[in-house]
Amino acid sequence: MTDPFRISDRALGIKASGIRKFFELGLSMKNPIDLSIGQAHFDVPDDVKAAAISAIEDGKNRYTVTQGIPELREKLKARYAARFGNVDDCETMVTCGVSGGLMLTFLAMLDPGDEILIPDPYFVMYRHLATMVGAVAKTYDIYPDFKPSAAAIRERITDKTRLIIVNSPSNPTGYALDETEARELAALADETGIALVSDEIYEDFIYTERHVSPREFTSNCIVLSGASKSMGMPGWRMGWLFAPRPLVERMYSLQQFSFVCAPAPLQWAALKGLDADFSAHREEYRNKRDLVYDGLKDNYRIVKPGGAFYMFPYLPEGVDAERFMDACIKRELLVVPGAACSDRGTNFRLCFAATDDKLKKAVDMLNEIAAELK
Ligand code: PMP
Repeated sequence: MTDPFRISDRALGIKASGIRKFFELGLSMKNPIDLSIGQAHFDVPDDVKAAAISAIEDGKNRYTVTQGIPELREKLKARYAARFGNVDDCETMVTCGVSGGLMLTFLAMLDPGDEILIPDPYFVMYRHLATMVGAVAKTYDIYPDFKPSAAAIRERITDKTRLIIVNSPSNPTGYALDETEARELAALADETGIALVSDEIYEDFIYTERHVSPREFTSNCIVLSGASKSMGMPGWRMGWLFAPRPLVERMYSLQQFSFVCAPAPLQWAALKGLDADFSAHREEYRNKRDLVYDGLKDNYRIVKPGGAFYMFPYLPEGVDAERFMDACIKRELLVVPGAACSDRGTNFRLCFAATDDKLKKAVDMLNEIAAELK
């Protein structure tokens, strides 16, 4: 007899996230220093919470149009117009987190057997979402300095390549693109006719001169972003995307028959959140980056992050990843092994979105571990 609850090949193709595993391990510890999960350590601003509560009390609890409330979409589009110039042929759409935007992009653009190119190291979801739609994620190497170079990407292009994923500022490395690199990626997209997907969820967490998007230099690019990180609301599932209109209109139908719409009252709250001044958080996180980088740089090789709230230090020479992770767990310090987001196991990911007190303790522990394992 067949198993009535037989699992699909699609689901069997997906492994549990190596990052969640550490999140769950943390729940079983008494007083862990958890630098494993990637979310801001601040809460939603009070006026944004108030906007969500008012929206609920005012009855904004029904479905919205699938593409999102016009007020939010228009505001987002005006921002993109200010950054990218003429955007008449493009449209914005509100999605259920950036994850929702990625899912819609892949569903709308990939057929079984198609290939996408993702950086190595990568944000874990890219690979699994590709598998879910029957596509194949191939990596382009960004070691050792984490620059996504057009030359490295070009080498990996085949006649099946449909999308090139770029993520700046990056999870897990914190690397932020400069203008030359963004221009080269844009030129590659124009020359090959392969679309870039630019995941800009960390755009507000930028410690270089400014956040640079490849979309500034080519229209052959889909931009994904959202409020999960910058408004401290990852649990609210608020994201958006910006892409050519005919493509976005396809995504409307896909969202209509899946997620339906992003949470209605929270769309009104995110609209309010777009007015907030983020600079104080940016400076706070810049200081956290410096605290951790300066604290670890004598014992670990680190590419200093230009954005986001991650660092991807190299393990000290000759130190085995498993022994390193065991030493961290013994101290109730949670970081993510590099192999959870890379084909290599030479690094670890540390999220510095935590109190300075915790970060200082973590720095001390990591220096102690480096001395112990040498
Ligand atoms: N892209 C990147 C690079 C991320 O780090 C994350 C969240 N960790 C997402 C997308 C998903 O974001 P959301 O919570 O808005 O779905």
